Amino acid sequence: MPTPPLPRIRLLATGGTIAGVQTGDDARGYRAAALSTEDLVAAVPQLTTLAQLEVERVAAIGSQDMDEATWLKLAARAQAALDTPEIAGVVITHGTDTMEETAYFLNLVLRTEKPVVLVGAMRPATALSADGPINLYNAIAVAAHAATRSRGVLVVANDEIHFAREITKTDTTQVGTFRSGHHGLAGLVNAGRLHLYGPPVRRHTHASEFAPPAVLVAPLPRVDILYAHAGLGRDLFDAAVRAGARGLVIAGVGDGNLSAAALAACAAAARAGVAIVRSSRTGGGIIERNIEIDDDGLGLIAADELNPQKARVLLQLALTRARDVRALQEIFFTY
Ligand code: GLU
Repeated sequence: MPTPPLPRIRLLATGGTIAGVQTGDDARGYRAAALSTEDLVAAVPQLTTLAQLEVERVAAIGSQDMDEATWLKLAARAQAALDTPEIAGVVITHGTDTMEETAYFLNLVLRTEKPVVLVGAMRPATALSADGPINLYNAIAVAAHAATRSRGVLVVANDEIHFAREITKTDTTQVGTFRSGHHGLAGLVNAGRLHLYGPPVRRHTHASEFAPPAVLVAPLPRVDILYAHAGLGRDLFDAAVRAGARGLVIAGVGDGNLSAAALAACAAAARAGVAIVRSSRTGGGIIERNIEIDDDGLGLIAADELNPQKARVLLQLALTRARDVRALQEIFFTY
């Protein structure tokens, strides 16, 4: 019997440390996004046993420079690939700093059941024990496997497969920086061999009600994140509203709390039609409504389980569909 052809995977490159090159003998200094996608692929000849790869450069940036325009371009290029019947899946190389935001954004806007996998590295390509080659190998293996369909956007790093909604970067330098919260991992991948766990818990990709890439228009509504701390005043809240924010996400203390002064500013902003979402700076847990703060009375929204940076992504998209606090809260319980 003839062997079936390997699946076709489109590799979209955006830059990051995975394409980074050290600037000198000091292993800690490097330039992100210095290698071409072709160089990255050539460094892992074993990829040819997994898939037929076609590469496309969408950007060449450190992901601290990821912005809305690049998100929209990346979403459009990913959707175009996913709409091509012969293509089985998409892999996106990306810096790790904002990978969770891009992954969650794509999880909300792409319309597909095909695998979409983001991958990066903590060590530059020229480092001792670079993690990029094995991460890329595993990411292609995940995208090439039909069992990873309909699981939303995934992130592969350090032999783990994460759901876009659950993953967060937790450490500045460690290879095991990525963690998923209470819902756990999407699976493990060991030298290209997959062990998949349960499906994602919330709505995503093919079931999403947000505008698909072809219809999304820039700019998305402005949403700012404000970080709570002891002694928090109201000035920055008032300044953000004056600067035109249509939504604010609070990286609150504990269960999404904030000082009386800041809360008064939020209540005033909410009365003026600014959407206020309470998230937490703790790095984990659920924000419930009406615990220490009267969300119903003040017209505030609880972030549920989303960290501030992901709550911002969801609120930007939510504001393109709804203004009403109750409808916005429902979106936060759905995605
Ligand atoms: N700041 C860079 C970025 O996010 C490097 C971090 C990394 O890729 O690991 O692109």
